[in-house]
This record gives sequence, C-alpha cells and structure tokens, in this order.
Amino acid sequence: MRPRSVQPRHAEIVGAGFGGLVAAIALAERGWSVRVHERRDSLAGEGYGIAIHNNMARIFASFGILDAVLAGGMKIDRRDSLDAHGNVVMSRKTVRSPYRIDRQHIIALLAERARTAGADIRFNSQVTGVSPDGAVTLARGERHGADLVVAADGINSGVREQLGLLKSRVWDGDCGVRVTIPRLPEEIAADDRGGTVMNEAWSDRRRVLYCPVTKGEFYVLLTCMVRDSAACTSPIDPTEWARSFPFMRGLFERIRDRADWTQARWDKFQTVRLTRWSKGRVAVLGDAAHAMPPYLAQGAGHAMMNALGLAAALQDAPDVAAALDAWERRERPLTEHTQRWTRIYGTTMFLPKPLKRLSILFEKIPWVAAQYVRVANHVPTGAEGATAL
Ligand SMILES: Cc1cc2nc3c(=O)[nH]c(=O)nc-3n(C[C@H](O)[C@H](O)[C@H](O)COP(=O)(O)OP(=O)(O)OC[C@H]3O[C@@H](n4cnc5c(N)ncnc54)[C@H](O)[C@@H]3O)c2cc1C
Repeated sequence: MRPRSVQPRHAEIVGAGFGGLVAAIALAERGWSVRVHERRDSLAGEGYGIAIHNNMARIFASFGILDAVLAGGMKIDRRDSLDAHGNVVMSRKTVRSPYRIDRQHIIALLAERARTAGADIRFNSQVTGVSPDGAVTLARGERHGADLVVAADGINSGVREQLGLLKSRVWDGDCGVRVTIPRLPEEIAADDRGGTVMNEAWSDRRRVLYCPVTKGEFYVLLTCMVRDSAACTSPIDPTEWARSFPFMRGLFERIRDRADWTQARWDKFQTVRLTRWSKGRVAVLGDAAHAMPPYLAQGAGHAMMNALGLAAALQDAPDVAAALDAWERRERPLTEHTQRWTRIYGTTMFLPKPLKRLSILFEKIPWVAAQYVRVANHVPTGAEGATAL
C-alpha cells in the first residue's frame, strides 16, 4: 500500500449545482479525487437566466470555458424599465454585465469540465447524513469516508441543519418564480431592428422581468409578496397578473401555457447566515451557507467564488480544518457585504412612489454605487490573472 502522503486526497461533494460543480473542478484540478452526489436523476432543473458579471467571467475563463458559456447565451443591448401600462420610464445600456445565460447551459458545461478534470458525478444519489470527521451516508445506505466533505446542497440544506450551523434565516416577505418560454418570431426579428432588450415592469409590489436568454427563448422572472397568494400560483393565473399589467395579458397566457411548471418553484427570498462555514472536515458553501435575495444577481457568483476559493485554500495545506478556517476568514467578509447590499437594494426598489426618486439619487452617490458593484469587480481567489468580459 502506498503511504498516505502520496495518495490523492479525496472529497465527497453534496449537490451538483453551481457551488458543487465548481468545487469539483477546482479540487480535481489540484489533484484531489472527487465524487459528486446529486439527488436528482439528471442535471436538469429549472430553466432561468443568469447575469454574468466579471467575477463569474473570470472563473469560467480560469477553467477555459468562458467562450463556450457566452456562446450559449444572449448579449443584451438595453434594459427598459416599464410602468404598469407599458410606458418606458427608464432605458439604460447594459454595459457592465450584458450577458444573460441559461442556467442549464452553464451547469452542463461545468459538469462536462468536472468530468474532464476527473470528477465522478452520481445521480439519484441523495446524501442523508454527514459526519464532521469526513464521511457521507447515502439514502441507499452506503457510507463513504473522505478527507473533505463539501456541502453545496442549496437553500434548504439538510447538511447545514444536521451540523447545527445555522445562525439566522431571515425571510424577506417577497418571493419569485423563474421560467423560460419560447419567443415569437416577431420578438426575435425585433432584435435586429432595435437591439436585444431586457424588459422590467413594476406595479405596486409585483414585478415582471423578461429577457432573451437564447435566440429562441425568454427568461421570465415574476416576483411578488409571499402574502399575495393570488399571484404566486403554479401555473400563474393570467387574469390576476393582467390586473397589475393589463398590456401583458398575452405574455402571461404564454407563461401559463408554455413554461415547464413541473420544474418551476416559487422561492421565498431569504438571507442565510451560519455560525461557521465548516465543522471538522465538512465545508458548507453556496446557498446552503449564504443564500441572499437575487437583487444583485450574485447568489451563483458567490457559490462559485467560494467553491474556487475553498480549493485554493486547501492547496498544499496539510491540515484541512485549519485551511477551512483560513478560507472562511478570507471569503466571508465580501459575501456578507453582498448580502447586506442586495438587501439595501431590494428595500430601495420597494419604496413608495414619492420616495422612489430618493432611491435613484441614493444609487448615484459614487460611494453607494461602488458598494453595489464591488463583488462584480472582485477577482476571485484562484482566478487571478484570468480574463474578464
Ligand atoms: C429569482 C432568483 C433569481 C436569481 N438570479 C441569479 C442571477 O442572475 N445570478 C446569480 O448569480 N444568482 C442568481 N440567483 C441565485 C442562484 O440561483 C443561487 O444562488 C444558486 O443556484 C446557488 O447555487 P448552489 O450550488 O449553492 O445551490 P443549487 O443551485 O440550489 O444546487 C444545489 C444542488 O444540490 C442538490 N441537493 C440538495 N440536497 C441534496 C442531497 N441531500 N443530496 C444530494 N444532492 C442534493 C440539489 O438537487 C441541487 O442540484 C437567483 C435566485 C433567485 C431565487
């Protein structure tokens, strides 16, 4: 038997989402043997658009997949804000983060990259238990030991609960559903005339965002208050939504008829904080550790950044638990900064009309603007030197 020091270190990863797959690539590239457990039977999940900021672009570039990621999405030229009657109240060029990419496309590329790096991804493999000394137990009864367990099991993380790491879970009162629907030929043709446009409409506390995510598909995000039970149904009721946005009745009918409601779910927006991001040999990351409302579009960004940072922290580190402490000390302050500022942004968006102008002025204060874009401009640990957009 070879001495332990020359055996590759082994990681068991819970969850094949953004966090789990990036951890798999980054650890496998650093010489670890890696097994990923995904409870679903495939990578398929909800379809939705992910806004690509520079921090994420750098991670994709460091894996050599940035061009392939961008090739599968859309470059958006303009973002129009509409009132409840369809009038454009503000129109902005999307300079900083113009790309919207379908989640499935990114996840498929990350999974392919993880396999190329040597990771073993197992489906129908639900983890039911983890132990801080480094082991996972599966629903079918197997137990696997590891030098490291990465829990990237999403917003309702069972691992986090089992390890007793939850410090707070604050529900914000609002919720959202994300779906994709086919675009009509005239909508596709309009790209060539006026550029590709992302539309966002507000009426009281209901919001509709729709944006091309491939040539042939719109990504649609509907948000409302959790107590607005007439609005947050699956499938949606077009008559109810048309009460708030009469000019969008046709769109709501298409959303009801064409979205895949078996995959869609209404997510309650929430902020999760843990007492610590690790226990023994188990690291918790992504929504499981630091879920945040989606207003700055950085939840997946932070899941990926912290996964890459984890592998970087463990590189050449003889003591896993000490490396996990160092990782948390390095990555957590920025994550909590984003959690704070995404909440502030969400709050200012829902100010009553007379105060709305104040929120626009607030955003224009250079120091405030810098807080909002800090994470987007951040160079992730482990992706130094990689290209941005
Ligand atoms: C409305 C909305 C819009 C958003 N828009 C953006 C955006 O534009 N940009 C952005 O960066 N982020 C966005 N986000 C956030 C983003 O979707 C999440 O932050 C991201 O998906 C978190 O990734 P994750 O890997 O932590 O978890 P997930 O993507 O949830 O993956 C967790 C995986 O673990 C699996 N799993 C769970 N339990 C087990 C178990 N016991 N055993 C095995 N497998 C298990 C699940 O099946 C799943 O595949 C948005 C969120 C919402 C709600």
